Amino acid sequence: MEILPVSDESLKKAAQVLQNGGIIAFPTETVYGLGADAYNADALVKVFEAKGRPRFDPLIIHICNIGTLDKVIDLSQLSEETKRKLYLLTGNFWPGPLSLVLPKNENIPAIATAGLNTTAVRLPANKAAQKLIKLAGGVVAAPSANPFGALSPTTAHHVKDGLGDKVDIILDGGAALVGIESTVLDLSCEQVRLLRHGGIPKEKIEKLIGAVIDASAITAAPEEKSPNGGLASPGQLKSHYAPRTPLTVFAKEEIQNLPHKENTAYLFFDNASREQFKSNFESDNQYNLWVLSSSGNISEAAACLFETLHKLDALGVQRIFAQLAPQKGLGSAINDRLMRASR
Ligand code: AMP
Ligand code: MG
Repeated sequence: MEILPVSDESLKKAAQVLQNGGIIAFPTETVYGLGADAYNADALVKVFEAKGRPRFDPLIIHICNIGTLDKVIDLSQLSEETKRKLYLLTGNFWPGPLSLVLPKNENIPAIATAGLNTTAVRLPANKAAQKLIKLAGGVVAAPSANPFGALSPTTAHHVKDGLGDKVDIILDGGAALVGIESTVLDLSCEQVRLLRHGGIPKEKIEKLIGAVIDASAITAAPEEKSPNGGLASPGQLKSHYAPRTPLTVFAKEEIQNLPHKENTAYLFFDNASREQFKSNFESDNQYNLWVLSSSGNISEAAACLFETLHKLDALGVQRIFAQLAPQKGLGSAINDRLMRASR
């Protein structure tokens, strides 16, 4: 395995690996992806094996421009109304952190979609990702580049620590800018459904296309990792995006009034909450206190969420106590990840 900084040369090399049926990790604006040629079923098997990902969990297929959408989607199956919504959404949010579930093109192998007739498709905003996908033939299936169920990777080093030699090349494009996975929106049924909160907030989507059904609720117990157990979307597994250290979530008012515990890291949403917590104790105590965004900026908090959880996990503490974000905008995605990280 080699880590290569993004350059014209390394992009060409990585694209060559993809075209030869290999797998490589690459940066996107959400998290790092583990890519394979979406038309190559053997290469897709390698992605599932490297991640230890169950075969019932379908992949998101990444394209490099809107013109190649029909390589992934069967546009002929779409009603006029669905097309209208599709082009409104892509016109406003692509390239960007929004994945759309639509009827799949027949050339997409069943393993990519876990046997479903639909597939998730996304046009990432990261320029290196776009170039790579173009050089590799235009359709790259890529889940997050981490072991299944573990914390998502937002840097090349997270990928190295999680997957090591299971991947041939890791392209290093720096820290992911959005830092949280894409929003997954299902356009394949009569009423549009939100399957996963992510980088494009639900409020922005509803402003554009009207009300959507929130089907993102945590519906499965952690042990319930059996084929599709009634889930609208496999990303809904209760235990997902999880650190090894046990994590408990608290509302702002709760965490501010917790007693201080030894061997515990406290993750606050903003400085004001941390100061409120500290005001209950003698000031010279050495607490293990962390903050997602000092000013309470939700985008900043989302961008460093996984990076911070990776760091907290490496501390060797017995538990992490984490404060939920305000439940609006990207805060909904942050809270979704924190709740799935908790046990
Ligand atoms: P990841 O690639 O790790 O970000 O996860 C991709 C997620 O997208 C999956 O876990 C599913 O929740 C969702 N997804 C992908 N394809 C479909 C599909 N055809 N129907 C519903 N959800 C999907
Ligand atoms: Mg993932």
